[in-house]
Amino acid sequence: MEALMRSALLSLSKNRGLNDAAKKYGLKFGAARFVAGSTLDEALEQIRRLNHTGIVATMDHLGEFISSREEALEAVQTCIATLDGIARAKVQSHLSLKMTQLGMDLDKDFCLANMERILTRAKEYNSFVRIDIEDSPRCQLTINIFKALRRKFDNVGLVLQAYLYRTEQDLMDLRANLRLVKGAYKEPKEAAFPLKADVDKNFKHLIELQLKNGDYAAIASHDANIINHTKQFASRQNIARDRFEFQMLYGIRTDLQKQLVQEGYRVRVYVPYGTDWYGYFMRRLAERPANVWFILKNLFK
Ligand SMILES: Cc1cc2nc3c(=O)[nH]c(=O)nc-3n(C[C@H](O)[C@H](O)[C@H](O)COP(=O)(O)OP(=O)(O)OC[C@H]3O[C@@H](n4cnc5c(N)ncnc54)[C@H](O)[C@@H]3O)c2cc1C
Repeated sequence: MEALMRSALLSLSKNRGLNDAAKKYGLKFGAARFVAGSTLDEALEQIRRLNHTGIVATMDHLGEFISSREEALEAVQTCIATLDGIARAKVQSHLSLKMTQLGMDLDKDFCLANMERILTRAKEYNSFVRIDIEDSPRCQLTINIFKALRRKFDNVGLVLQAYLYRTEQDLMDLRANLRLVKGAYKEPKEAAFPLKADVDKNFKHLIELQLKNGDYAAIASHDANIINHTKQFASRQNIARDRFEFQMLYGIRTDLQKQLVQEGYRVRVYVPYGTDWYGYFMRRLAERPANVWFILKNLFK
């Protein structure tokens, strides 16, 4: 039942009609629980609040389904404005973004040039930009772009997904600052482990590899089992706490976020904002279909 619900929610997350409708109506149906605001200033205010509790952030301006160069260029401007806003507000935050937002599906070189503009501005502020990873057909191209960027910039990192069979090889080839996640998209069994137990096992293995390699690891998970495994492994191997960080999504397991800060770990929260919240929101519901009841309750409020 849960698997069916997850699959249905992931299919709905790609519905363009619903996406367009959601944009018009602002943060509805409880989306404000997962999205920090419609505007940059609203999101910066939430980051200031997080920073006060010792949590740092990575901001993401939400955007899905780019279909023209103009839209991609608009996204570049928004990313630059976000970096400017972070610097102006003097909050502690990086930037996260997706290659499809910057036109990767239209033209790889155009996307690369867009990324170079963003990284150049980030460099001026001594800031860091993380490339989110999307569905598996886009994985290789995203990696190629990341490799090209790394020849010129040292303030860029990538995300890799534990559900993909290929990830161990990618991690070993790249030897880079990585965020490791389970993976959020609907994938065929030819590309990804279908069983959660196998994904979790691979996730632990990848975390160990990355830490043993001495490459910076951002472990992005709300799973206490994964987090405890990381803590124990790091402690056994004498890995310093500034070699890794835990990351979680805005509004999810805030209790665990605070607890980790109190224990002396670095915690970074992924803070999405903007009017294009629909696809992101549906993926969060798919991760935990129990959240659908929370939404239904909000519908009747
Ligand atoms: C900072 C960050 C960045 C990410 N970037 C990417 C990316 O670039 N590409 C990508 O494919 N995926 C990304 N993800 C999503 C990731 O792949 C998983 O889909 C997501 O994190 C859920 O997996 P989990 O490790 O939390 O474990 P799960 O086994 O899914 O969850 C463990 C526990 O966490 C809690 N939980 C998890 N999700 C929710 C939720 N939505 N609502 C309420 N409670 C929840 C529940 O208590 C659950 O039992 C990112 C995740 C984070 C935290």
